[in-house]
Amino acid sequence: MTLRITAAAAARLLGKPLAGLTPGTQGGAVRARLDYVEQAVPQYARNVVAVIRGSDPQLAGEYVAIGAHNDHVGFTATPVDHDSARAYATAENLARIVGDQLKDITPEQRAAIRVNLDSLRAARPVRRDSVANGADDDGSGSMAMLEIAEAMAKAPVKPRRSILFVWHTGEEAGLLGAGWFVEHPTVPRDSIVAQLNIDMIGRGAAGDLPGGGPDYLAVVGSSMLSTQLGKAVADVNARQPKPLRLDYQFDQPSQWPGYNNLYNRSDHVYYARAGIPIAFFFTGLHQDYHRVTDEPQYIDYPHYTRITRYIHDLALELANAAQRPLVDKPNS
Ligand SMILES: [Zn+2]
Repeated sequence: MTLRITAAAAARLLGKPLAGLTPGTQGGAVRARLDYVEQAVPQYARNVVAVIRGSDPQLAGEYVAIGAHNDHVGFTATPVDHDSARAYATAENLARIVGDQLKDITPEQRAAIRVNLDSLRAARPVRRDSVANGADDDGSGSMAMLEIAEAMAKAPVKPRRSILFVWHTGEEAGLLGAGWFVEHPTVPRDSIVAQLNIDMIGRGAAGDLPGGGPDYLAVVGSSMLSTQLGKAVADVNARQPKPLRLDYQFDQPSQWPGYNNLYNRSDHVYYARAGIPIAFFFTGLHQDYHRVTDEPQYIDYPHYTRITRYIHDLALELANAAQRPLVDKPNS
C-alpha cells in the first residue's frame, strides 16, 4: 500500500523541515489507525477523445481510431540512484540478449555484473528517484498521437474518413480506459473501421532487445481479424522513404521472458474483442520498462519520428481507402 501525505505531515514524520533534507532520509516509525473513504476513479482519471472530421460526406461517419495511454505506474516504494540502477539494468539486459533470443539471466551472470560506481560518481553525484516517468510507456505513444493530430489538423485536405483519437487512461491498471471506451464509445462502435494502438515506440535499439536497431518496429495483431489491414500495414511501410523493419514474431506465442501474450496486454484488445481490426505498434520492452529510468533522454528520437510518420501515413491510407478493411477472420 502507498500513502500520499502532505508536506506538513512529512515534516512531522521526519522531525524537521523538508527544505534541508536529502532524498532517502529515513523518518521515524508511525503507529496509526487508517480511516479512508473510497471514491470512484473516473472523477480523477479520464480518457481524452478528439476527432478530425472526414472530408467525404459519404465516409465521414466512419472512423480510423488511433490510441495510446496517458497513465503510467506511479511511484516506487524505495528511491533508487538513477545512474547505478540504470548501469546495472543495462548490463543485465545485455546479458539476457543471446543472439536472436532473449533469455532469463542466470544467477552466475547476475553475480558477474560489476558496475564501476567510481566512474559514475566522478560524472555525477547520487540522484535518487522514485518517480516512474513512463517516457516510453507511454509518453512516446501519447505524444506521437499529438504530433499526428497536429499534422492532420494543419493539412489543407482532410482524410475522407474521420480520425478518432483516444488517449486512454488506466492502461496500467488493467486496460480500464480502453475497456470503458469500447463499452461507452463516443461514436457508433461499428463505425470504427480499424484501431491503431501505439504503446512504447521510443526505443527498440540493439541494446534493448534481440534484433533491435534503428529500423526496428514490432507489429502485433495486424492480420488477426483482417487480411486487408495486415496488407495495408505492410504496403504503407514499403512506401516509406526508408521503410522500417517490421517484426511480426509476437503474433506467435513468445518464449522470451516478459514477452508472452502481448496481443492481450494493451488497449487494442478491447477493440479487437468488439470485432474491430487492430494493429499494435511497439519497439519492445527494455531495461527501463516500468522503472524510474524510463526517461526521455533514452528515447531514440530519429527512430521515433520515422515510426510516428509511418503510423500517420497508415492512418491516412485507411481513412482514404475506397473500402474499410474487410473482417475476414474469425474472432477468437
Ligand atoms: Zn504501455
